[in-house]
This record gives sequence, structure tokens and C-alpha cells, in this order.
Amino acid sequence: MLRKARKTPAKSSAAKAETPALGFDTLCIQGGYDPKVGEPRILPIIQSTTYKYDDIDHVNRIMTLQEFGHKYSRTSNPTVSGFEDRMNLLEGGVAAVATASGQAANLLAIINIVRPGDHILAATQLYGGSFTLINSSLKKLGITASFFDPDATKAEIEKLVLPETRLIFGETIGNPGLSILDFEKLAGIAQKHGIPFIVDNTLATAWLCQPFKHGANIVTYSATKYIDGHATSIGGVVIDGGNFDWTNGKFPDFTTPDPTYNGVVYAEKFPQAAFLVKARSQFLRTFGGCLSPLNAFLFNLGLETLHLRLPRHGENALALASFLEKHPRVAWVNYPGLNAVGKKRIAKYFLHKNGSGILTFGIKGNLDKVRSFVKKLKVAALVVHVADARTGVLHPASSTHAQMNKEQLRAAGISPDMIRVTVGLEDIYDLITDFDQALG
Ligand SMILES: *Cc1c(COP(=O)(O)O)cnc(C)c1O
Repeated sequence: MLRKARKTPAKSSAAKAETPALGFDTLCIQGGYDPKVGEPRILPIIQSTTYKYDDIDHVNRIMTLQEFGHKYSRTSNPTVSGFEDRMNLLEGGVAAVATASGQAANLLAIINIVRPGDHILAATQLYGGSFTLINSSLKKLGITASFFDPDATKAEIEKLVLPETRLIFGETIGNPGLSILDFEKLAGIAQKHGIPFIVDNTLATAWLCQPFKHGANIVTYSATKYIDGHATSIGGVVIDGGNFDWTNGKFPDFTTPDPTYNGVVYAEKFPQAAFLVKARSQFLRTFGGCLSPLNAFLFNLGLETLHLRLPRHGENALALASFLEKHPRVAWVNYPGLNAVGKKRIAKYFLHKNGSGILTFGIKGNLDKVRSFVKKLKVAALVVHVADARTGVLHPASSTHAQMNKEQLRAAGISPDMIRVTVGLEDIYDLITDFDQALG
């Protein structure tokens, strides 16, 4: 829960006694769960809503946030905690909370900060559900928003900051425009205006990019995608970087007593992870979008191969994108690993030279060409999903982003002919052969 991320070993000799920091690959497999003698080697599924106590004072200390303990699985559960801790270690945060879905994660992260009357600044290139959350659902709660082109200049984006702006939101790799965030630019704006920078890291994952290293304050996930990796479960995660000053005067909910927890002041009592403790205590408790232990177990299993799957997703995507670029029936291809800006940002912000597993392309001709291409596919399938072991295709303008008008589609980087491909882990020869016959 609030276990601290292992520190990278300091160079001074005084730090020698500390546990050495484990590498990313080891954390994927063992992070967040440390069984004692005779305990299960594998993080067990604790399918229990309830935890037994003997002493009413002990329960009181837990219920008033004086002590940590599982009390009811809506706010915490041992299996879910194991998964949260692993995600936190991989991202290098201070604490994490798992949620019922990626949508619930983004809602929790945002609603933990804003009040009615506040304003959100978000990138135009967003997952369709996140765009609708910010542009429509939150507006009904009195929270307004402006959207910026992630590749606009710093000055252009800064013009959109209002006195009531309370956060900046973007995706590491925008879905499905696939532009990689210019972290330095956005973190600079957020810092200057004393507002947190939230990054949805779903399509990159910590294997490719650790946004806290580049100025993000909160990282969110749809665990449904590469974390699961096999398209079995819906879930999400919010991770607190512990690197934002909530006491700068703009966030009274962090600096004034919470009457629902005996007057606790989150920024005072939990200075290291005020954001996360507040999110869990207030909104996970009352809104209830918690993750089930079974899904946490499956995500944890997915993480054990994250560092093996992601390289292959990227290699397959690069090979398929390169093939499509040369195909006479293909009008255009977009893959961050192939374009100049994408390559520059990968070199600057990513831990590996890899553009992840999502690409988009257009077929020459009209929508009927798209229809017949999709129908002819045999190895790849038409699915409303990304980031699992199987290759899938989708036509965003008629599906995930169908709620957008023409202007919004253009701003989100979606053309009417765009086909989004989530490149899986199959034999690349079979994928290229399949796409070739379907295009023909
Ligand atoms: C899928 C997705 C979401 C929403 O997650 P769910 O788990 O489907 O609720 C949010 N952000 C991004 C980038 C996504 O790809």
C-alpha cells in the first residue's frame, strides 16, 4: 500500500547497507510480493471481502487512518495490494491504487484534484473514453476543459491556462494519433503554473517510458491493455509520483480537514503520498470503482512477461509498418518508430528504441476498400481493443471515436480512412502475408 519504492543505490558508502535496487525485469516478476518461509511462492488470490480483528481500538485506528490494515476489499485487498505495489515499483512512484477499469483510474485521478468550477487542460489526442469523460461527463459536474494539440508550441498551450486550471492531462502515446508527448514542454507549463501533470501511460508502459522521470506527477493506466496482455480482464491503476506540492494554495481539499475521516488533513498527515491516500480514502471508498482480486492476480501474471512481450510487439509493429509503407494499395502509414518526430522523442524519453505495438494506416480508395480489407483478414481480427497477444484492427472514426465531430476527429489525428492496428505477438511472416492478401 504505502510501501516505498526501492531506492536506486546511492553512491555514498553509507548506503551500502540498503537492499540493492532490483532491475526492471526482476521487478516485473517478483516486485510487490515477498513471501515468508512456507508461504505461497505465487501472489495468492485472496477472495475475501472481509478481514478479522479482535480489538475495537485496532479497527478504530484503521478506520481513522492512524494505522494501515485491510478492512473491507472495496478500499484494499492483499492480492490487489500486491499488484499495486508491483506497478508502483515499475513506475518509480510512492504508492498506487488499482481500479475497476482504465476509465475508473482516470476519473479517480482527476476527481481527486478538481472541484466544480475548476478547469482541465487536456491533449486533443486521447483515448475516446478519456475524451468523452473530460469533454462531456465531467462538464456535467461543473468541471470545464480545454484541449491542446500536443505538438503546439509552449506559448500556444500556455495561452489556454486559466486561473482555475487545476491539471494538465495527456497520454504518453496518444491513442490513436500515436504522437509521443513532449514531456519537457508540458511538465514545464505544469510546474510554472503550480498544477499537476497527469500522464496516461497505457500504450507505452513503464518498460518503454517512466513519466515520473520526465516531470509527470501522476501516472494512470488502463491495465486492460499491455499489463494484462492477453485480453482477459478490465482494470486500471493510478500511481502517485509523490513529487507535487499540494500545499501551494490551489488545492484546499488537501490542506483542510476531511470531516469524513475525523478531520484528517491529507497533505499534513501523509506528506509523501497525500494524493494517493486521499484518492483511496475518499473516492475509492465512496465511488467504489475497485479492482477484483481475481483481475489483480491476472494482471500480476501479465506483468511477469511485460519485459518479454513489449520488445516483440514493437519489433512486429515496425516490420508490419515498414511492409505497409511500401505497399501500392496503402496511402499512408503512421508509426512512432518510423517518423522523424516519433524517433526523436523515443530517443529522448523512452528506455528502449521501440515504438510500442500500435500503428495506423490508410487504404487508397473509399470506405468500401476498408470494409473489404477487414472482411478478408484471417490471422488478424476486427476488435475494439488494443494491446494483447493477438493482432487486431479497428476503424476508429466509426467506432471508438464515433462520438466526435469532423473537427474533433481531425484534432485527435483521426482521418476517415484510418485503420488502427494493434500488432500482436504472432509470427511476423503470417501477419505480413495476411495483410498482403487482404489488401489485394
Ligand atoms: C483503453 C484505454 C483507457 C480506458 O481503459 P478501460 O480499461 O477500457 O476502461 C484509457 N486510456 C487509454 C490510453 C486506453 O487505451
